[in-house]
Amino acid sequence: MGTIYAIANQKGGVGKTTTAVNVAACIAEAGYATILVDVDPQANATVGLGCPKDSTPNVYDVLAGSVEARAALVATDVPGLRLLPAHPDLAAANVELPREPGSEVRLRDALQGLRDEAAYVLLDCPPSLGPLTINALVAADRVIVPVQTEYFALEGLAGLLDTLALVQRELNPRLSVAGMLLTMHDGRTRLGRDVEREVREHFPDLVFDTVIPRNVRIGEAPSFGRPVIHHDPHCAGADAYFELAKEVAARG
Ligand code: ADP
Ligand code: MG
Repeated sequence: MGTIYAIANQKGGVGKTTTAVNVAACIAEAGYATILVDVDPQANATVGLGCPKDSTPNVYDVLAGSVEARAALVATDVPGLRLLPAHPDLAAANVELPREPGSEVRLRDALQGLRDEAAYVLLDCPPSLGPLTINALVAADRVIVPVQTEYFALEGLAGLLDTLALVQRELNPRLSVAGMLLTMHDGRTRLGRDVEREVREHFPDLVFDTVIPRNVRIGEAPSFGRPVIHHDPHCAGADAYFELAKEVAARG
């Protein structure tokens, strides 16, 4: 039975997609069958894995119930990693889902079959706490929260944790926080070091030991449609995502 991880933070640009793509690739590289589900209409994870952002079938078809999730999976260039692609049409789900009572469990029910297909299923969430993110949190067992190591890092985290607690209480008692992940860290600056210390002090048990450095290779890999471990396997960014994948697996 596979475990489902949502990668979530309502802030944009904090490293959700980068983390989803690269953790998925590292876990697959380690020999575990892995599936990345792109739940963001922007389809950045889909494109970052070298797939077109208007593929059919896609997550929208799966949410609509017209296609089974396993039938919508596509292979990627990373052995062992398959993708359930996003599509710009998915934006419509943000309007359509709330119209239907009980639609918070739609993605959970649609993805059940994937637990038999992979040891790890990762859900890349959009930058909001809207219906798609709620659907992902209801479908997930664990959530990874990327936190950009910058001045406003802590802002919004309290709101996110409240939402996680609400989803856990009302809709998904299995949900737990796998960890908060410091991203785009620059350990040479005082700001970077201060923010890291502050986040660790605030959330002593929640922050992953691994910190993802700001790294040019991580930033340019998506433009080649591949994860950083294929773009430059020996760069600091690839090392960090390998370490993180080990830590995620060890935390269970
Ligand atoms: P989100 O999915 O939270 O909106 P992304 O993962 O798309 O955030 O990251 C935002 C931008 O920052 C992207 O252009 C991405 O390539 C870049 N980026 C993410 N992590 C790093 C990093 N560790 N070093 C350098 N650039 C990064
Ligand atoms: Mg994203």
